[in-house]
Amino acid sequence: MNVKLTLLDTGFCRQLELFSRKGGRLKNVPFHALAGLIEHPVHGLLLFDTGYSPRFFEATRTFPYSIYGKLTPVVTDEAQGVRAQLVARGIDPDLVKGILISHFHGDHIGGLRDFPQAKLYCFEKAYERVRGKTGLAALREGFLPDLIPDDFEERVTFVDRNSPVPLSKAYQPYTEAYDLFGDQSLLLVDLSGHAQGQFGLLLCDHDHGEVFLCADAAWSSVAYRDHLLPHPLARLIMADQKTYRENLYKLHVLSRNRSDLRIMPTHCEEVWQTCKGDFSWRS
Ligand SMILES: [Zn+2]
Repeated sequence: MNVKLTLLDTGFCRQLELFSRKGGRLKNVPFHALAGLIEHPVHGLLLFDTGYSPRFFEATRTFPYSIYGKLTPVVTDEAQGVRAQLVARGIDPDLVKGILISHFHGDHIGGLRDFPQAKLYCFEKAYERVRGKTGLAALREGFLPDLIPDDFEERVTFVDRNSPVPLSKAYQPYTEAYDLFGDQSLLLVDLSGHAQGQFGLLLCDHDHGEVFLCADAAWSSVAYRDHLLPHPLARLIMADQKTYRENLYKLHVLSRNRSDLRIMPTHCEEVWQTCKGDFSWRS
């Protein structure tokens, strides 16, 4: 079943390119945080992550969370929050039925509190890693507890409590995924490593064909295309370096097997530039 995907740019942070991949420049470059608006013919409006929002600044005002803001200087504003962008497009944000949370880093959950009526979907093993953590323990996970809605646990569905289904050979070396609605329209693939329990989303867009939103399993398209690991210092923030490496390699192989499949890292400048120039992704 096809859906319509629109990518929303919620702002960016500046970071040295060389941190993100081998061979990167010693130069600060913007890492945009994209969120995906999904129009599903049966299940209505859904979001894949919520990127940044000005709530990030509130959540990082005090120590030790302020360290997060210093490590990743963020540029965003009210108008770039997902909720405001939906309003600007004439979409009632309260019609968003569900939010798929790839993982719990602050640049993916910035807008969660702006959708108080939406169901929430994540992997339990991702949530368990951050649940109840505050202070330095939270910071170590890239987690800002103030961004989590108070009623999170009442609204969440832990997708990985179900069993995964086999994926068609077309997605090798990935072999299984969680079929969110049981109709093969949204397939969640375990991409742990960068964060425990991170998932990516396979879907088929009306206009652009198959897409794999791979969250932060790679920080740029060139990283999976040319199989370039991040700088050793950046690898220190990965939850599990071995699994990170395995998933980056799998993405690399998948990209070689399937030139028709658009693999989209959340923070890839190339993805953002491509979509910015292609109106059908944006409206
Ligand atoms: Zn992340």
